[in-house]
Formats: sequence, structure tokens, C-alpha cells
Amino acid sequence: MTGTGKFFVGGNWKCNGTKDSISKLVSDLNSAKLEADVDVVVAPPFVYLDQVKSSLTDRIEISAQNSWVGKGGAFTGEISVEQLKDIGVKWVILGHSERRHIVGEDDQFIGKKAAYALSEGLGVIACIGELLEEREAGKTFDVCFQQLKAFADTVPSWDNVVIAYEPVWAIGTGKVATPQQAQEVHAAVRDWLKNNVSAEVASKTRIIYGGSVNGGNSAELAKQEDIDGFLVGGASLKGPEFAIIINSVT
Ligand code: PGA
Repeated sequence: MTGTGKFFVGGNWKCNGTKDSISKLVSDLNSAKLEADVDVVVAPPFVYLDQVKSSLTDRIEISAQNSWVGKGGAFTGEISVEQLKDIGVKWVILGHSERRHIVGEDDQFIGKKAAYALSEGLGVIACIGELLEEREAGKTFDVCFQQLKAFADTVPSWDNVVIAYEPVWAIGTGKVATPQQAQEVHAAVRDWLKNNVSAEVASKTRIIYGGSVNGGNSAELAKQEDIDGFLVGGASLKGPEFAIIINSVT
């Protein structure tokens, strides 16, 4: 990592868990020994946010996996930023590839959501990343920069933004990007921020990697200069392994 901010590790629980399995996961996290100098966030499914918030140590902050694009109201099935704040949620993951490619959210909609969440005081984990066919067609940077631009066009400030680079072909597949592949994109993202936002934002913004991170590969990835943390899916559902990933920065 570049040393410009604290290492940041997020656990994206996706659509997994029951009251019982989540209570076990929370108790494992509560008893884990975590490096002091790492920001740790977990993102449970909406229905368990309150359970996790009230049982998890304050050492770990809570994120939502999505939020509505504006004030609440007649929006069936949605959850507003205000409601998330009401139960103590501090972060939201936006632009995850499963929302982009399965649900069909586009860059503009995601950008608006990010702007709204930030303006209301939530931190945003802003996800970007290319599909396998885009990588094979040599379009990795184009795709990432276009997704990044949609955030840059709307966000009021980058202070509470963490960028998560998650190549879609690496998510949930067990096919992790090599440290060099990840570093190459992270460096390009930082460069893009420098050229299109500001040198200050480029040096301060944490760029984390996601896609099949586990307890066995995180230490090697964490050594890369521009990898400032991780967004972890599958391996974040196992408390002891998630703790290894959090502690892999040292
Ligand atoms: P994975 O998911 O770690 O299971 O690949 C990462 C993510 O989608 O954030």
C-alpha cells in the first residue's frame, strides 16, 4: 500500500446467512484479534443489519450493500440512506458488478446513488471492474475509467469514497487476479484520479481489490504499492479467515 491512508478491508456478505449463521459469524469476529491500524467494515444483507449492528463490536463498522438514489417514499422494495443512517450504518457498497450485470444498474444511476449517499454523510465503497471479454479485448482501462468517470461526474467530494477494483472474472470464481494484474489497474486508476480529479484525491483515496481474495493470497496482494485493502465476498463469511485477511497488511 502507498501509506496514504489506513488499510481498508470490507466483507461483503451478499445474499448469504440466517439469524443463526450470522450470530456465529459475529461472535467469531468479536473474538478475533484484529490489527489496530486497519479500517474494517462488514456488509450484511439488509434484514440482518440491525442484528449485526447491535451485536458486533464497535471496532467494525457496518455497510449496506445498496441504497436508494434519493429520499425515501413510494419506492417499493427499496431502502433509503436515511433509514440506513437511522440504524447506525456508516457505509454503502455501490456499483457492485452483481448490481451492474445482474440487476442492470447503469453508470449514471450508480453515480447518482453515490452522490446522494455521500451528501447525506454515508461513506461509499465505489466498485468498478471489467468483464472477462472486456479484458480479453484489451478494454480493461477503458471500462474502469468510464465507470470511474460516472462517479467523478457526480460525487460532491472524495473524502468518504473508497474505490474497489473488482475484475468481474475474479469475483466468486476462485480465479484471483495476480498481484501484478491488480497493481497495474490500481496504478492506472490512481493516475486517472490524478489527471481527472486532483493529485490530492489521487494520493488520498484508497483503492482496494476484490475478487477471490482469501487467507492464502491476501498477504501477497497487500504488498503491492497501490493496493490499499480488500473487498472480500466468500472468505468474509468465515470469521477466522476474514481476520487473516484483515491482518495481512503487516
Ligand atoms: P469474492 O467476492 O471474494 O467472493 O470473489 C468479492 C466481491 O464480490 O466483493
